[in-house]
Amino acid sequence: MEGTVTKSTGSWYHVLTDDGKVWMARTRGKMRLTDLDTSNPVAVGDRVELKEDPNYPDTASISQVFHRQNYLIRRANKLSSRRQILASNLDGAALIASLTSPRTSLGFIDRFILTCEAYHVPALVFFNKMDLLGERGEAVINDIKDIYRNANVTVLLGSAKEGKALASFSALLQGKRWLLAGHSGVGKSTLLNAVFPQANAKVGKISEHHNKGQHTTTFAEMFTLEDNTQIIDTPGIRDFGVVDFEPTEISQYFPEMRPYLSRCKFNDCLHTHEPDCAVIAAIEKGEIADERYQSYLGILNNEDIFE
Ligand code: GDP
Ligand code: ZN
Repeated sequence: MEGTVTKSTGSWYHVLTDDGKVWMARTRGKMRLTDLDTSNPVAVGDRVELKEDPNYPDTASISQVFHRQNYLIRRANKLSSRRQILASNLDGAALIASLTSPRTSLGFIDRFILTCEAYHVPALVFFNKMDLLGERGEAVINDIKDIYRNANVTVLLGSAKEGKALASFSALLQGKRWLLAGHSGVGKSTLLNAVFPQANAKVGKISEHHNKGQHTTTFAEMFTLEDNTQIIDTPGIRDFGVVDFEPTEISQYFPEMRPYLSRCKFNDCLHTHEPDCAVIAAIEKGEIADERYQSYLGILNNEDIFE
């Protein structure tokens, strides 16, 4: 049998077979693993081969993970070099962000979209809670919107309580498989419920103390909705460690830097201090946003954002 992994609880996986049945499955025996060193050999979104367990009903073992078209991967924790695949075989990944209550830092957004760019996953950032912003906040977010559109990212500005951006968001997701991520409290569940009421995501109250929200979900989970729309909801992600890039490779994943890279004097230019660096010149002329350059330097120096 073949199926798609819809949920991972650590030791058990839920696998949906094409007939609509959900199996409880474990990896067992000699499984042909991918050669990635990850904490989870099987990820939500994976297409797997299943063997029914004759001893227990609805239970199966995973004997093979099929080739992934793409995936998103992070280091989840400052202390560990272990990498975690968030999900695989994606049409896109949406980060729900907010400038306030709680604030999503640009550094976090940059690491998320860099990973999407490097692993061939189209990225979208939905700035939610626009209703909480005053005039100044709106001006700030309009600048941010331009920065990210220049970086090849789809940007939507809206509020879970208001329709326009929601309609564009749901149109993009329709019939596709998207991952949804965000810090807890940004309104991801509220958005999900507004767009796809069948998803039935739990809405939590933002905790007064930390302004970071409570954790209501713990594991990534894929919901299949009408029109075969598949949403992979991930638990409130606080930490996003970028994995394993060569220093000279990083600027390639900043789309707005790419046109300048071949014009630097040195082939292995890291765009930090080198003479005749076209990237630095472009920043000085305002053609590349300084905020993005600061993130670039942070990622180059292995500074991860663990909030
Ligand atoms: P999640 O942790 O990202 O899933 O966040 P929730 O969906 O549980 O929302 C956290 C809190 O923010 C709840 O009290 C929501 O009612 C509130 N919220 C969600 N979206 C918005 C929005 O667009 N504007 C405002 N003002 N509050 C929102
Ligand atoms: Zn350079």
